[in-house]
Amino acid sequence: PVRVRFAPSPTGSLHVGGARTALYNYLLAKQTKGKFVIRVEDTDTARSTRESENGIMEDLRWLGLEANEGPGTESKYGPYRQSERTHIYKDMADRLVQAGLAYPCFCTDQELEAMRQRAEEEGRPPHYDGTWRDADPDEIAKMKEQGVPYTIRFRVPSGKRVTVNDHVRGEVSWDAGSAVGDFIILRSSGMPVYNFCVAVDDALMEITHVIRAEEHLSNTLRQLLILDGLGYPAPEYAHCSLILGTDRSKLSKRHGATSVGQFREQGYLPQALNNYLALLGWNEGTGTEKEIYTMDELVSSFSLDRVGSSGAVFDLQKLNWVNSQHLKAQDPALILEQLGRQLDKAGIGGNEGTGGFRELAVDMVREPLQLAHEAPGLVSALLEHPLDDTISSGEASELLEDGFVDVARAVVEAHDSGALPTGDGRDGAEFESAWKGWVKNVGKSLGRKGKRLFHPIRLALTGRMSGPDVGQQVRLLSLAVKEGVPCVCLD
Ligand code: GLU
Repeated sequence: PVRVRFAPSPTGSLHVGGARTALYNYLLAKQTKGKFVIRVEDTDTARSTRESENGIMEDLRWLGLEANEGPGTESKYGPYRQSERTHIYKDMADRLVQAGLAYPCFCTDQELEAMRQRAEEEGRPPHYDGTWRDADPDEIAKMKEQGVPYTIRFRVPSGKRVTVNDHVRGEVSWDAGSAVGDFIILRSSGMPVYNFCVAVDDALMEITHVIRAEEHLSNTLRQLLILDGLGYPAPEYAHCSLILGTDRSKLSKRHGATSVGQFREQGYLPQALNNYLALLGWNEGTGTEKEIYTMDELVSSFSLDRVGSSGAVFDLQKLNWVNSQHLKAQDPALILEQLGRQLDKAGIGGNEGTGGFRELAVDMVREPLQLAHEAPGLVSALLEHPLDDTISSGEASELLEDGFVDVARAVVEAHDSGALPTGDGRDGAEFESAWKGWVKNVGKSLGRKGKRLFHPIRLALTGRMSGPDVGQQVRLLSLAVKEGVPCVCLD
């Protein structure tokens, strides 16, 4: 059975790159009815915090990427925080030492530094020179007795070729002996080294597929050597390409929002973010133009072998479009609730749908909307009377010459006498017919129709030359007045 893991280091918040890695792992697990494991890689005690771990878990939950196992789960594979597994790493290191595949090294920092300098002068890679590799056991026992601190080094077999068939990168292979020197697996403080923890955990947690970022490809060699030394089979690997900014450098803060939390706060839908991140590096391939996927569709169509090997540019426009598609595809009641919440937050909520303001407002801004949090801005624009922004001076003088003032007077009179239809007490259809009737009357009494009628009415009532249906705007305003929503109305 497939067992995959997402292995965040809790040293900050969850970024889109991490979220994509988590998503790919999740998709493979769901598709194969396997297990999705979360393992917290918190051995860097100086930088890891529980707060960060909690934040990452919360973001994953928001994205709907729930794990089958992780911190808090009781199982034979736990615990799931590396900081709680130190004894396991020690036992495993001992096992390697017993088998002669690792050994203690008593070199001091100065000696190691001198070794590096020698290597540099001679133009060799700065590998450990093997001082303690084949030391006399008595010598080792003596040093230990004297309490000299030591690290444990992995004995890298010379002349060994290590090859991995990466799902994304294809065949990658190393000549182990020339690529790395005998590397440390346990520090003199007893703290295990990162790559050792990862290999041990992947083995003991019976991970079948390691899906992670490209930057970990070079770690794979050490991890494979350790797995092999411990006698465990290697998992399959998929190293996903970097996510890039628009300038094609690695996506970072200076490109704008990069953390999942920021996108959440900005009102993006989790399903839209998942959809977009899935496409960022993966495509279904079969000549399909399909770009909008539900989570279930992603689960059934995802495949590691269709994850691309070149870096993908994070395109905010595209994300916004994907978000707008998911927004529109939602159940109307849900949209009403989501956008209503945004309106409430901005103090333009109305009576929570009881008087009709909220429904109408949501209905009017739904189409142009890309993000839920844009709703208040779009609605309040409908409640203002700017009398400027879309009219050119040419248009203005044309309208004035053509008797705009007559129309404006008719509008004001209608308002003062109560003849201007309001949304109060009418449903949408009733208002619609009252409104059409009124417009027709104005036209008849002033001898106008078509554009000569509609343009001046629009301008007089909304202060703009373009925008959504004027009748709807009038109805929205009257409902706003009735429900105490702040607005600039005709009074
Ligand atoms: N803890 C690593 C990271 O956050 C992930 C390593 C792995 O997946 O093997 O980048």
